[in-house]
Amino acid sequence: MRYPKIRELIEAIKALVKGPYTSKFPKQPHQPFERFRGKPEFHEKDCVGCGACVNVCPSGALSMRDVDNRRLLEIRWDICIFCGQCQANCLTEKGIMLSHEFDLAITGNRESLKQEIGKDLVVCQDCGEAIAPYEQIIWIAKKLGPLTFSNPSLMLFYLKSQKLSSAVSEAKQEEEFLRADRIKILCPRCRREAVIKS
Ligand code: SF4
Ligand code: SF4
Repeated sequence: MRYPKIRELIEAIKALVKGPYTSKFPKQPHQPFERFRGKPEFHEKDCVGCGACVNVCPSGALSMRDVDNRRLLEIRWDICIFCGQCQANCLTEKGIMLSHEFDLAITGNRESLKQEIGKDLVVCQDCGEAIAPYEQIIWIAKKLGPLTFSNPSLMLFYLKSQKLSSAVSEAKQEEEFLRADRIKILCPRCRREAVIKS
């Protein structure tokens, strides 16, 4: 016959005095520990749509696509492995954050286990190609401070956001670049062409 070890006896006595270590979930709500990594959620007002979180997500739970001048970001909780890389690498540090929510089991359609947000994109004034989300450019301009004025696209965009310029117009394909085209919101390819050809 094997006798219980001293350590096991101590644990048994502790459990008798303090009660069982396990929680009574789902009969009683379970309160996760402070650093528990639960369901990640986008916080739309703090997200600028940069896509950094999508690039670091190891499971492919995060995705983004640009449709009709809108950047759509999606998180699938049925694919997420709760590693926390999205939160750790978020540009604004608050755009996506892991919550304490862990009870994600459903019996219905798993397609409902997702969250989608959208951000308006700024387009090149010459070719119409998407450059970056509006909020991301404003975020960069604020970070750069006076250095914003070293880049014509950033400068024009920042002035417009402050209602100091109405320079932004619809994209229109010009035959050739003129010198005045340098002071436009342009994608990197068109900016390069404008500088070389004008
Ligand atoms: S917690 Fe990890 S797996 Fe889940 S969305 Fe964030 S980066 Fe992707
Ligand atoms: S701001 Fe944060 S949450 Fe939003 S797209 Fe960038 S990294 Fe992802």
